Amino acid sequence: MSDTPKHGFDTLQIHAGAAPDPATGARQTPIYQSTAYVFRDADHAAALFNLQEVGYIYSRLTNPTVAVLQERVATLEGGVGAVGCSSGHAAQIMALFPLMAPGCNVVASTRLYGGTVTQLSKTIERFGWSAKFVDFDDLDAVRAAVDDNTRAIFCESIANPGGYITDLDAIAAIANDVQLPLIVDNTTATPFLCRPFEHGAHIVVHSTTKYLTGNGTVTGGMVVDSGTFDWAASGKFPALSEPEPAYHGLKFQETFGPLAFTFYGIAVGLRDLGMTMNPQAAHYTLMGIETLSLRMQRHVENAIRIASWLENDPRVETVTYAGLPSSPYHDRVARICPHGAGALFTFAIKGGYESCVKLVDNVKLFSHVANLGDARSLIIHSASTTHRQLTPEQQIAAGAGPNVVRLSIGIEDADDLIADLDQALAAATA
Ligand SMILES: *Cc1c(COP(=O)(O)O)cnc(C)c1O
Repeated sequence: MSDTPKHGFDTLQIHAGAAPDPATGARQTPIYQSTAYVFRDADHAAALFNLQEVGYIYSRLTNPTVAVLQERVATLEGGVGAVGCSSGHAAQIMALFPLMAPGCNVVASTRLYGGTVTQLSKTIERFGWSAKFVDFDDLDAVRAAVDDNTRAIFCESIANPGGYITDLDAIAAIANDVQLPLIVDNTTATPFLCRPFEHGAHIVVHSTTKYLTGNGTVTGGMVVDSGTFDWAASGKFPALSEPEPAYHGLKFQETFGPLAFTFYGIAVGLRDLGMTMNPQAAHYTLMGIETLSLRMQRHVENAIRIASWLENDPRVETVTYAGLPSSPYHDRVARICPHGAGALFTFAIKGGYESCVKLVDNVKLFSHVANLGDARSLIIHSASTTHRQLTPEQQIAAGAGPNVVRLSIGIEDADDLIADLDQALAAATA
């Protein structure tokens, strides 16, 4: 880390990982739009390919702009290293890849982003992996779901579509008991609101597409390692603890210590799966991250105001925002995400599926899109869109029932957002 850990979050979100460009003095991190990097000589090339020296070879593996973002996010999360990926979904596969093998499973929360439920329940089966979905409030069930073939425990900090906060301390305690890594998707919280490593998580994944970039311009993902998991102790993670034939029998944990998972992610994961973040995307995300704390404070402030207004509106049945005192998860806010419960939540309206469809058709300032974590306020009817592939039981378990609308509250004037919802609710429930 080039920055001392003594610096505060607001400083690190601007400076961590970055330095004036050594060639030109450029103060902003340049977009190194280059596929390949010239080797000093044949020995230098050999040392890089043998992983004996760290440097740039080819941009499927590493790129200087992406490297700055990797270090920035690792620092903000309090981790030792990070691997940039082409999307949040790519980051999830890249996090599981070093751990899993055919026949292995991951124990996952039922409360996840709809696309993640699909990825873990269907697509990973093609690799011979599987997932067991469990209610993460039922700690005995989480423990019982772990078997000899489990290789990871997976959840979201603030779960999409919102309103639920995972008790990370309790889940991490189970993970440590059973000697398995806890992977936390921290997309909807960001490291400003929640730092999963401080609660015992081992790996964090992000869709940088959302709040980290903050303006809906580029897709990207990040896998961050805490460096705290011992990959050799249980014998269950041979990719990280045993000799790697493609690198002359090198053992990642023995050679790279706490950076083993990160190096494996680059040297084997990106090399062979190729789900690489591009330097343009890294640039946009670096721009966004500079204002992360300022934006998140406003996102949270606006979310509290709008959720409170909705909760008191007779056209609304329920609001599921953990930032409201009425939420069953409100007591977890101070402990798990002390700067606020995020800006993503759902509400149920009287009138069901059809009224929800009318509501999203009548908003003017809110955008009807399948995204979240934008500076703009966004609305979506999950049951007819993002959670459409799920069974009705899975939809309800994920908090995306037929009469439920999801909001991603932006950083506009809260009064304008309330006025827009007010007129759209009038049209929807007329
Ligand atoms: C969007 C999202 C993802 C997937 O990220 P992409 O960048 O769209 O691939 C994963 N998890 C959560 C919580 C998300 O919001």
